[in-house]
Amino acid sequence: MPDIVLIGGGVIGLSIAYELANRGASVRVLDQGPFGQESSWAGAGMITPGNPLVAKSPETRLRAESFILWPDWAARLREESGIETDFSRCGGIELSPERSASDIAAVAAKFQSEGVRAELIGSHELRELEPHLNPELGDAVYLPDYCQVRNPRLLKALLAACAARGVELSPGLPVIGFDRGGQRVTSVRTPTETIAAGQFVVCSGAWSQSVLAQAGCSIRVEPVRGQIVLLEVLPLPTHRILEVGSRYFVPRADGRLLIGSTEEHVGFEKRNTAGAVAELIRFGNDLIPSLKTARFERCWSGLRPGSPTGLPYLGRVPNSDNLFVAAGHFRAGLMLSPITAVLLRQLLLGETPDLALSGMMLAQ
Ligand SMILES: Cc1cc2nc3c(=O)[nH]c(=O)nc-3n(C[C@H](O)[C@H](O)[C@H](O)COP(=O)(O)OP(=O)(O)OC[C@H]3O[C@@H](n4cnc5c(N)ncnc54)[C@H](O)[C@@H]3O)c2cc1C
Repeated sequence: MPDIVLIGGGVIGLSIAYELANRGASVRVLDQGPFGQESSWAGAGMITPGNPLVAKSPETRLRAESFILWPDWAARLREESGIETDFSRCGGIELSPERSASDIAAVAAKFQSEGVRAELIGSHELRELEPHLNPELGDAVYLPDYCQVRNPRLLKALLAACAARGVELSPGLPVIGFDRGGQRVTSVRTPTETIAAGQFVVCSGAWSQSVLAQAGCSIRVEPVRGQIVLLEVLPLPTHRILEVGSRYFVPRADGRLLIGSTEEHVGFEKRNTAGAVAELIRFGNDLIPSLKTARFERCWSGLRPGSPTGLPYLGRVPNSDNLFVAAGHFRAGLMLSPITAVLLRQLLLGETPDLALSGMMLAQ
């Protein structure tokens, strides 16, 4: 019998499994499909900088604590799996096509107040940094510490590192029910097996609400669809992440350029729409005119696990001694995966959590 069963093998479940296995726990991860093919695969892999010495709000603290874990986390995964995740400090620029100078100055001030390096630059400096951008763009904020990871490779590295650490990986095994004895979950049911364990974690992404409902627990996690367009552009017109609010460009080292993304509340309908793809391409062409001749490679969509506050649920489920949740990371699950793994490891192994999780946890 495993010490801990994780329900969901996206970036959150696999990162927790890897962290627990590193401490000698016996872990089994169940996924209803193949591992790491949902939101975690579909994401863009942007890792926004943070500074734990200055961050104060729950969101900025969680982000900052995760940010400083990333370089070591990526290096360990590369060493243990032999797979390069392409984690890099590529830098980023927040652009302002439809924003006033005071709005973009406020963006710079917000990052600076969090202790993050952020420089307000004028259109002349922007053109020097990014000569392929539309020359009509005005002031911008340069964020030299912005990072990225190539998430499909991150998932492969996590899977390989988990397997090497003895994690039992069970794809194609949906959890369809929980057995309880008083305050404890004794086992989870799947179509073919009933699986007993000491502790259980629901990390089922956008499906976490319905999974936890089977255990009699109510949380609000809603799928929020995001669509992405992938172009091949050689040479790349930028090597930095370029953001305009919720829209962005993410360049990959091999000449791919991601253009994202939408935020759509359409239930579990994972597909692309002509309107959204056209809109993303138009956005791309407006900001980087040379993209008009780029090769359209493909498009995809994913279902982000949206929570009411945008912050994840992390912690023990009320009225359950041994059932935990790590879900609802919305737009930040890749970025927050290392700190989520560390916090859940601390909670599951009875250690004192590094961060005060008030506002994020259901119960201590
Ligand atoms: C277009 C897009 C762009 C994004 N960009 C970024 C970004 O740049 N940076 C960032 O940090 N985040 C980004 N995100 C968000 C990020 O991808 C998510 O927050 C993160 O992947 C959530 O991980 P997860 O493991 O909780 O969910 P998922 O990856 O969805 O994994 C959940 C897993 O649970 C399994 N499951 C569900 N129900 C059951 C069941 N009953 N039994 C067993 N298994 C089950 C599913 O099959 C799935 O594999 C983006 C997301 C999208 C869609």
